[in-house]
Amino acid sequence: MRSIVIIGNGIAGITAAREIRKRSDDKITVISSETDYFYSRTALMYLFMGHMEYHHLKPYEDWFWAKNRIDLVRGYVERIDFEGKALHLAERSVSYDVLILAVGSKPNFFGWPGQGLRGVQGLYGMPDLERMQADTNGVRQAVVVGGGLIGIELCEMLLSKGIQTTMLVREKSYWNSVLPDEESALIGDHVREHHVDLRTHTELAELHDDGTGRVGSLTTKTGETLPAQFVGIAVGVSPNIDFLKNTPLETDRGILVNEFLETNLPGVYAIGDCVQHRTPPPNRKPLEQIWYTGRMMGETLAQTITGTRSAYDPGVFFNSAKFFDIEYQTYGFAPAHLNESPDLKTFYWQNAARKVAMRFYFRADTGVVVGMNTLGIRQRQAVWSRWISEERTIGEVMGNLEKANFDPEFFRRYEDEIVDAFQGQFAEWRVERKSRSIFAKLF
Ligand SMILES: Cc1cc2nc3c(=O)[nH]c(=O)nc-3n(C[C@H](O)[C@H](O)[C@H](O)COP(=O)(O)OP(=O)(O)OC[C@H]3O[C@@H](n4cnc5c(N)ncnc54)[C@H](O)[C@@H]3O)c2cc1C
Repeated sequence: MRSIVIIGNGIAGITAAREIRKRSDDKITVISSETDYFYSRTALMYLFMGHMEYHHLKPYEDWFWAKNRIDLVRGYVERIDFEGKALHLAERSVSYDVLILAVGSKPNFFGWPGQGLRGVQGLYGMPDLERMQADTNGVRQAVVVGGGLIGIELCEMLLSKGIQTTMLVREKSYWNSVLPDEESALIGDHVREHHVDLRTHTELAELHDDGTGRVGSLTTKTGETLPAQFVGIAVGVSPNIDFLKNTPLETDRGILVNEFLETNLPGVYAIGDCVQHRTPPPNRKPLEQIWYTGRMMGETLAQTITGTRSAYDPGVFFNSAKFFDIEYQTYGFAPAHLNESPDLKTFYWQNAARKVAMRFYFRADTGVVVGMNTLGIRQRQAVWSRWISEERTIGEVMGNLEKANFDPEFFRRYEDEIVDAFQGQFAEWRVERKSRSIFAKLF
């Protein structure tokens, strides 16, 4: 019986543990410093806002681990002796035959003066949430630095406590490095309507002590000073690999792995946010720090470790998020700007009054659809993944749009409006409507 040790009890590590247990009797140990049990990191904001309690975030009951013979160890691995196959924690050592590194990410901090003051923090794990709960007490004004998905969650959390919130964004509009101009403007307006003071072209320069060791204000690169008794830093995350530097393990921005999630060391694997793919799967990035890719890597690696060597194949990219109450989904190749892809065209449709929008990316010559963004209209993942992988043309996709709609019954349907606008702009791509929604006529 081998001793399989996993560092990290997030979605990647826990999926690997569960899937290995389904297939083998090996001894499995999961070590993590953050919490005793696996919890859903993506729901942290709901805990803060009082919509959920901690036990709601735990997908498994506490008895599940013993029943499935998965030993949980709470502790921080300070050092790994890869030659001796041993992990060194503060008060004990653990030996392994197989090691899985699933050590996640950490929030980026860029060395701003004053970034160590109390009340200045990122949001990644439970300790961050506990600090935020303590340090937002009595706060009147807060600033969120960075405008991605965690930045907007921080705004929503702060607003839920009645705190006046300013968001600083380096780009010309909200998350414009990922969202094309129109979507970015739509969400930016929505953010402002929620009474967030969204400042574009604005970067943090320095944070100032209020005289007690906690933050009282900050200065931007344009020299403006903003009062802030709490500052949330949301300028991205990086693989949490500092403790692995200067070891025989090959790292770059993340832990380098091949398509089998193998590192350069025999018997040592890496999965989840901490991974950097040496050769990314087709149309994917070397680092993808998202929930479902961690789960997929855990599933894939479990196969390899239990005897079926399997390559990681995440399929068509997708991601989803919420900007306050607007749901966002993206599929396939959907860049913010097309400068580097002149062979692509996009069709954008928006119903501004209702804040819903869709964008379709397709090849200029063949019409093959390569990607899509949607705001406010929920789409079926299985349908879009199939359309993109089967290289359906824009005419076919438009003609079948209703099949992808996943909004609840009696929601307003927009397919007719979208197709009419598309034909007005791209008459050369004929759309054959397969089915017409009766709801489109009703609303
Ligand atoms: C607030 C927030 C919201 C998010 N929302 C979304 C979303 O809506 N959709 C989405 O796709 N993704 C979302 N993400 C990202 C997603 O949560 C991550 O991609 C995912 O949780 C990473 O899982 P993981 O298993 O790779 O690592 P993690 O969940 O980070 O787990 C790694 C664990 O390893 C522990 N660890 C690290 N080093 C050591 C060590 N040396 N010794 C012991 N333990 C160690 C860490 O403490 C941590 O608990 C969100 C992230 C955050 C922070």
